[in-house]
Amino acid sequence: MVLPLQAFAMTQINSVRLWRAPDNTRLVFDLTGPVEHSVFTLSAPDRIVIDIKRTKLSAEIQGLVGGKSPITQVRTGNREADELRIVLEIAEQVTPKSFTLTPNQQYGHRLVVDLFDNETSRITNNPAEQPVTTAIINTRQPKLSSLPSSIKRDIVIAIDAGHGGEDPGAIGPGGVREKDIVLNIAKELQRQINSEKGFRAELVRTGDYFIPLRRRTDIARKKGADLFVSIHADAALRTSAFGASVYALSDSGATSETARWLADSENRSDLIGGAGNVKLDDKDAMLAGVLLDLSMTASLSSSLDVGQKVLSNMSRITPLFKKRVEQAGFMVLKSPDMPSILIETGFISNPGEAKKLSNRSHQQAIARSIHSGVRQFFQQNPPPGSYVAWLRDSGKLALGPREHVVRSGESVSLLAQRYQISPAQLRSANKLKSDVLKIGQILTVPATTLAGQ
Ligand SMILES: [Zn+2]
Repeated sequence: MVLPLQAFAMTQINSVRLWRAPDNTRLVFDLTGPVEHSVFTLSAPDRIVIDIKRTKLSAEIQGLVGGKSPITQVRTGNREADELRIVLEIAEQVTPKSFTLTPNQQYGHRLVVDLFDNETSRITNNPAEQPVTTAIINTRQPKLSSLPSSIKRDIVIAIDAGHGGEDPGAIGPGGVREKDIVLNIAKELQRQINSEKGFRAELVRTGDYFIPLRRRTDIARKKGADLFVSIHADAALRTSAFGASVYALSDSGATSETARWLADSENRSDLIGGAGNVKLDDKDAMLAGVLLDLSMTASLSSSLDVGQKVLSNMSRITPLFKKRVEQAGFMVLKSPDMPSILIETGFISNPGEAKKLSNRSHQQAIARSIHSGVRQFFQQNPPPGSYVAWLRDSGKLALGPREHVVRSGESVSLLAQRYQISPAQLRSANKLKSDVLKIGQILTVPATTLAGQ
């Protein structure tokens, strides 16, 4: 007996997930194999139609209705004997985009349908106002140079909780998920930073949904961020590994095997979470091609500096996995004009650490230590025009002793000038017998005598 070929080729939809983001709704269909599909819209009433060839539905999909989802009703049927049609009735117009994903460690074949909220209908119904709205959204916040001198701007910290939605991140003992822990820490850090005058924290991810890696820096830049902090709690190669670590981008190779391994696994996030065809703005499109150039060197040096301060504060509340900032090719840290660090708050693969990381008061302590490191960095390096710069310049900011890690090209006289101390003060604080500095050498910078005091 000969069976028709299509009986073998029939693909099944085994489950469906829905993720709601602030500006879109993502539907993910788990499939037993690759599919051919098409998605289109119908109006009056507004509907999204998904046709999938040689596929049958083996999952319950009424769960797509309700909550914050724009979907009000789901109907399914067969257009032809072997073609599945899914019709989504929607409360307001959306723009659908769809793509398929091939299997990886976490998932099999998937079909992703993104329904983007129609911004015009959400913000204003008057088309004439639309360009203004777009301009506000797309423009980096003006720095003081373009503002009246009486306005002292906040320093903006973008806090990026890693993973989310389809990408759970690492999963620890008992099913504890990285994406949930890091969102809790990110929200706590935001609360703490916002309670300090002169600072404002913006969350890149506000809930349980996925954001492609390049989009994360894009969001941060549009919020006018002075610093990008990505928060993680990944698994380590060995489950016995524990401790916090901080990473910055590398313009050459990775500084350790662990750093390389972590960067590789983080960079797979787009495959797991489903980046699709990310539309990048001009700047990002340029970056995707030419990833590192000289303009990044300045922000890399700041990244290492702020990272070291965060590490030194974290060492007071949790063991460190690495005492120095490690470097590797993390995609999410590639940003030319914004210092960017990635913090591993601990390894979720270690049972003891997973338990600690799930604990509210430990999450608060981690947030406090990150906050302290960030504050110290900006008190020493306040952006021109910021409230913190004004505090410093008007002698209201007391700077205690601090550490400096020597970088290529730095000299005693240059550092003395930067920290507003005399070369003799720097020499004596470090018992320097000559002015020869080694790259990586750690200097103590004595408390700064402020102008006017
Ligand atoms: Zn991670």
